[in-house]
Amino acid sequence: MLTSEEIRERFPPFRPSRDEIGLLESDGLVLSPDRCISGALDRARRRGATLWLDEPLVRWRSGSTDVRIETAHREVSARRLVLAVGGWTPGLLPELELPLSVERVVQHWFDPPAGDRARFASPDFPAWVWEHEPGKSWFGFPSTERGVKVGLHRDTGRDTRAERLERRVRADETAGAQATLDRYMRGRFTPRSEASVCMYTTTPDERPILDRHPEHPRVAYFAGGSGHCFKFAPALGALLARIAEGVAPELDPAPYRADRFASRSAAAAGLRASPPGPRST
Ligand SMILES: Cc1cc2nc3c(=O)[nH]c(=O)nc-3n(C[C@H](O)[C@H](O)[C@H](O)COP(=O)(O)OP(=O)(O)OC[C@H]3O[C@@H](n4cnc5c(N)ncnc54)[C@H](O)[C@@H]3O)c2cc1C
Repeated sequence: MLTSEEIRERFPPFRPSRDEIGLLESDGLVLSPDRCISGALDRARRRGATLWLDEPLVRWRSGSTDVRIETAHREVSARRLVLAVGGWTPGLLPELELPLSVERVVQHWFDPPAGDRARFASPDFPAWVWEHEPGKSWFGFPSTERGVKVGLHRDTGRDTRAERLERRVRADETAGAQATLDRYMRGRFTPRSEASVCMYTTTPDERPILDRHPEHPRVAYFAGGSGHCFKFAPALGALLARIAEGVAPELDPAPYRADRFASRSAAAAGLRASPPGPRST
């Protein structure tokens, strides 16, 4: 735990108020998602996977012996189907009525004061999440050749749909990020022309859902991992593969099943939830 004074001493660019405290995770690291993803794809390729990239799944149909999958370019038959389509899950699995909220998030890149990127670079400077108002936080990452990346966590509180996500970044959004930096950091950060829009897809308890389709046991899915699940991808992927295959997973899958929400809403409605039936996972 760091006091406000210790934060200022150790990381002079931060300007916490006297009553703010910090929690430093000294063995925390920063991952480069692009490099992680291309590494994972290379490894999958080397182990015999065939990758069809930029080829959306259009529809699927599950039968007793296989799943028929139609993409933009072909139709194939598979033993299993695993869907991990982030914010597009509600559109692809509407019948499940999963309690997913899809929120638009904007990320901005800034040049640090006096272009001093080295001072804000890892490992001397950390990634941070700053709860500046109760329940509201903003985050940032150490500087790279693109500058410092910042964003507001769960800022809008409004649901959207992946299919109609507004990808244009408005000038007032960049101005809002600039005002946040001006208020909480020392020195003037300059916005770069880069900013990008992505989506947080979350569940009410902020844990992802990993499960099999209740009516189509050949189909498994993952959804709702936004904000914190990237680093868990290898473990979640292994768990999902076992769920898809119907073999006992090494991790207990119960905290990730979709039916945890069904029993919660039944309890809220004063109803007795029916016990989950036997499952092979
Ligand atoms: C702003 C932000 C900050 C984050 N920060 C962190 C962090 O600090 N630490 C951390 O661990 N995690 C973080 N995450 C979370 C991490 O990025 C997510 O867990 C992860 O992106 C969710 O992965 P996903 O595979 O479920 O969805 P996505 O990454 O959205 O991937 C879904 C994919 O499905 C594809 N797709 C959609 N429809 C189809 C279709 N019909 N056919 C084929 N493909 C389709 C999409 O093109 C996309 O590539 C953050 C996320 C956001 C948005």
